[in-house]
Amino acid sequence: MTYEVKSLNEECGLFGIWGHSQAAQVTYFGLHSLQHRGQEGAGILSNDQGKLLRHRDTGLVSEVFKDPADLEKLKGQAAIGHVRYATAGEASIDNIQPFHFKFYDMAFGLAHNGNLTNTKTLKRELEQDGAIFSSSSDTEILAHLIRRSHKTDFVDKVKEALNKVKGGFAYLLMLEDKIIAALDPNGFRPLSIGQTANGAIVVSSETCAFEVIGAKWLRDLKPGELAIIDDSGVHYDSYTDETQLSICSMEYIYFSRPDSVIHGVNVHTARKNTGRRLAQEFAHEADIVVGVPNSSLSAASGFSEESGLPNEMGLIKNQYTQRTFIQPTQELREQGVRMKLSAVSSIVKGKRVVMVDDSIVRGTTSRRIVQLLRDAGAAEVHVAIASPPLKYPCFYGIDIQSRRELIAANHTVDEIRQIIGADSLTYLSIDGLIESIGLETDAPNGGLCVAYFDGKYPTPLYDYEKAYLKSLKEKTSFFLDEVK
Ligand code: SF4
Repeated sequence: MTYEVKSLNEECGLFGIWGHSQAAQVTYFGLHSLQHRGQEGAGILSNDQGKLLRHRDTGLVSEVFKDPADLEKLKGQAAIGHVRYATAGEASIDNIQPFHFKFYDMAFGLAHNGNLTNTKTLKRELEQDGAIFSSSSDTEILAHLIRRSHKTDFVDKVKEALNKVKGGFAYLLMLEDKIIAALDPNGFRPLSIGQTANGAIVVSSETCAFEVIGAKWLRDLKPGELAIIDDSGVHYDSYTDETQLSICSMEYIYFSRPDSVIHGVNVHTARKNTGRRLAQEFAHEADIVVGVPNSSLSAASGFSEESGLPNEMGLIKNQYTQRTFIQPTQELREQGVRMKLSAVSSIVKGKRVVMVDDSIVRGTTSRRIVQLLRDAGAAEVHVAIASPPLKYPCFYGIDIQSRRELIAANHTVDEIRQIIGADSLTYLSIDGLIESIGLETDAPNGGLCVAYFDGKYPTPLYDYEKAYLKSLKEKTSFFLDEVK
């Protein structure tokens, strides 16, 4: 049987807290600091002495909770929250998390970040067995698997269910008496545990949320691990021994906030190191370094320090626009680039500029920024990218599942240089990336997933195997046609 693998891409943010008199308010602040991980929708589910209460909607966290009453009604000493990543379509409130499942004998809340690679198979099996799905998200699958487990203890049911789902995932479950946090066997997504000054246990996709609420970091969840959080504190357990750290390298390159620390490495420092290494791999003469705000500023500072070239603010970002990566149509992406950046003529005029950016996905943004710099009078624009060429799709939770969208999939570096109109184009090497992030681990690829760059996926692709093989045949030559 053949079937289309549908795009269910999420790179969302999770936050949870147990043991705080203002749990929902703290979760609101936590979600605020995770807003960069998803702007399509947000929700909070609180636990008021075993009664689960929820508010969710589409929009930014501040929009979803613009009426203070929406937050005030979420009483209780525990809460979990979610910010959802924007993808084309699927903007219905039904897909906004946390989900709230009610049964005759119990209820639980569930929030999820990532993408399962065996969704179709599991969904088909579950539907053949009578399950009914109420959203297009694959998050519900775990709930069905938990309910169908014949184990008696709830944590054992969860463990059994986790062994059936494959791919990249982080889950937060809330029951009457506990929160359970779980991470996939490769730890593709970050998930950290912390503690507030009053002893409440918190869990967050990124440690930047801990700073905001005055919590201290306790530790990161390991691949294949569970954290069970209740009135007695936090306990760690595992559901599989078949684990191998392969955290998504794009978390360091692009997604996470620079003040977050993932597996002991600060994101800003990792980016700065990529910039340093990039400067070593760069072979052109230039006058100034200009980072593309905001996610490339750290790499630009590293490039500047290593090369000795001054780091100048030649590009200014309007802080109040959304990131181009998440705009679902080409027209909106182009519009997004126009709205959000300006080149500073008095800085770049007559200069040979090294334009440092974190990545090139479709090439649209880079081409536009190179043009902005030229229009502002730059004598030369040398583009330096603080990551290797993006050539392969991601099936673990990032919104690129087709090589058609990746300019590097079918074009040489020099062709890309022509397309974006640069004088030179330098990408960071894969070894340079791995060494720059420098995780302390014996795991392959320095504990990172670099499948985006080398096509070597750390797990079987299950339902996506056919989609992947098909994607290898896809051409992106329309990019070159556009500029001819
Ligand atoms: S394929 Fe790329 S985006 Fe996906 S998890 Fe691996 S490194 Fe991250």
